[in-house]
Amino acid sequence: MDLRCPKCNSTDLKKVSLAYEEGVFRNEGRARVRAVVVGSGGPDLVVGRATTRGTEQSILSKKLTPPVKWSYLKIIGWSVLLFVCVGWLVFYVNAVTTNATTVSSPPLTLFALISGAIFALLVFLIWRHNHSTYGLQYAEWERSFLCQRCGAVNQQRVGTDSNS
Ligand SMILES: [Zn+2]
Repeated sequence: MDLRCPKCNSTDLKKVSLAYEEGVFRNEGRARVRAVVVGSGGPDLVVGRATTRGTEQSILSKKLTPPVKWSYLKIIGWSVLLFVCVGWLVFYVNAVTTNATTVSSPPLTLFALISGAIFALLVFLIWRHNHSTYGLQYAEWERSFLCQRCGAVNQQRVGTDSNS
């Protein structure tokens, strides 16, 4: 094994997946200890301290967090919400400007068509992300190493030629 940090040449490297797990657990543990110690100060103080710890941690852990699959449910939820909001706006503007209250007016039909197209595109993008981009990102994350001396995250090729 000849793993070296390209930045500072240190051999003190750790797998990002391991560092991520340890970071998460350490963070939870610390928050719990604080909650016990500060318990007499009231619940507000406890929550405040726990969240401060969380945000401090997130700067590094953002680099370490594994990629996530995009959620269809979340995107569909937001799309429906946006569709209803914008649809209502288009309907309202249309009703005010043309004095028409029928649903089958040209602007609304156009809006429905565009929304449908955007929605189809979104679903396709999620599908493509989850089937190819996510896999690539995850593989990259799996072979990323964190330098424990300077904190740089970099990718190393492991297991291809070190076994022979
Ligand atoms: Zn380094």
